[in-house]
Amino acid sequence: MAERREAFKMLFSANSAKVETNKGDAYYDRLFQQCRARLDELKASQPLQAIDFHEILSDEGYDRREFMKWASAATAMLMLPPMFTPLVAEAAELMTRVPVIWLELQDCAGNSEALLRSDGPKIDEILLDIISLEFHETLMAAAGHQADAQLEDAMHAFKGKYLLFVEGAIPMGMEGQYGTIGASGETFHEHLVRVAADAAAVVAVGSCATYGGIPAAAPNPTEAVGVMDVLKGKPIINIPACPANPANMVGVILHFVLTGQVPELDSLLRPKFAFGYRIHDNCERRAHFDAGEFVEEWGDEGAKNNFCLYKMGCKGPMTFNNCSIVRYNEGVNWPIGVGRGCIGCSEPDFWDKYAYERPMSDANIKAPTGGVEKTVDQFGLGVLTATAVGIGIHAAASAVAGKKSDEGEAQ
Ligand code: SF4
Ligand code: SF4
Repeated sequence: MAERREAFKMLFSANSAKVETNKGDAYYDRLFQQCRARLDELKASQPLQAIDFHEILSDEGYDRREFMKWASAATAMLMLPPMFTPLVAEAAELMTRVPVIWLELQDCAGNSEALLRSDGPKIDEILLDIISLEFHETLMAAAGHQADAQLEDAMHAFKGKYLLFVEGAIPMGMEGQYGTIGASGETFHEHLVRVAADAAAVVAVGSCATYGGIPAAAPNPTEAVGVMDVLKGKPIINIPACPANPANMVGVILHFVLTGQVPELDSLLRPKFAFGYRIHDNCERRAHFDAGEFVEEWGDEGAKNNFCLYKMGCKGPMTFNNCSIVRYNEGVNWPIGVGRGCIGCSEPDFWDKYAYERPMSDANIKAPTGGVEKTVDQFGLGVLTATAVGIGIHAAASAVAGKKSDEGEAQ
């Protein structure tokens, strides 16, 4: 119980990003010039695929106005001011100029599935369809020696320029022999290190590639770890979640095309534009949390009225991700929207620590207003008090999280 209570207190001090949304005119003017030069340079390069992006958009039913609306939303998602919207639109048109190599290691291919879904695609998904995916062994026709040759060709042709997307954990047990690839029996670890050597940056996609994910769950027989645990000397961008949201994959590529750099990251190497806020900060059930209205049992009146899922084990208060904003499945819905609490899938060790229902109603919460210890049950005592406590906790959590982030980044 003590351990559980301690773990609960940690919920409000998880590492996070401190999101700076306004960095001043001088900063943005400089960045604008840098992006302009980068896009001009890309424009002068040969497209890797002969496609007409606007024709594809039009075939899918999007006109210029809708594309610019999307560009404006994407600009806001990247936490850039509106003056960048035309540049973001240009970057989207130039996304095919950046080659992507995709490796699948110890995983379920869920992130590839997320990449592929294209039923009535949104512009994000169209972009993922047309990125210059130079190698993805699950999706391409080549196999065996042909596939090996294709990878070698792509690495050679785009040396130093490709983005390496990695899906899946790296098994380190038994000298890596739990996962081998190709005729030579190269281990996943050797394979990753070799292909990453000439990448411009490495993007770890999904919770397995970022922190080891489900393969690393106890007792972790294969000694699975994430990319950042084994790869040194390369810029690494983590896009955790199970699966990663395609909108965040697009955001990372778009940012790289636009600026030639990796986005601003938190101490867990997650882009702040996507992981700078907690699920709880933007949850549609938040008003019920603040008012002390909770689902107490599956199927009760609270559940029917979309009350907060905190007592049913929702981990939204300590989970950093933007799924409460961008949602899944063409933006139709997301886990909490359909009545299931967040299981913290974008946090380290989520499967062991958070994934099963663990009601936290007996845990003490440090309420910063007055320094009193409140249990979540006490939230329901009075709407006004509860609201103040809820907001106070929120503010304190953000402050602590921001401090932690600063500490992480200073290291
Ligand atoms: S459902 Fe979860 S994320 Fe939403 S308000 Fe409740 S505790 Fe927060
Ligand atoms: S709501 Fe929580 S568990 Fe669900 S996808 Fe988002 S971060 Fe993962």
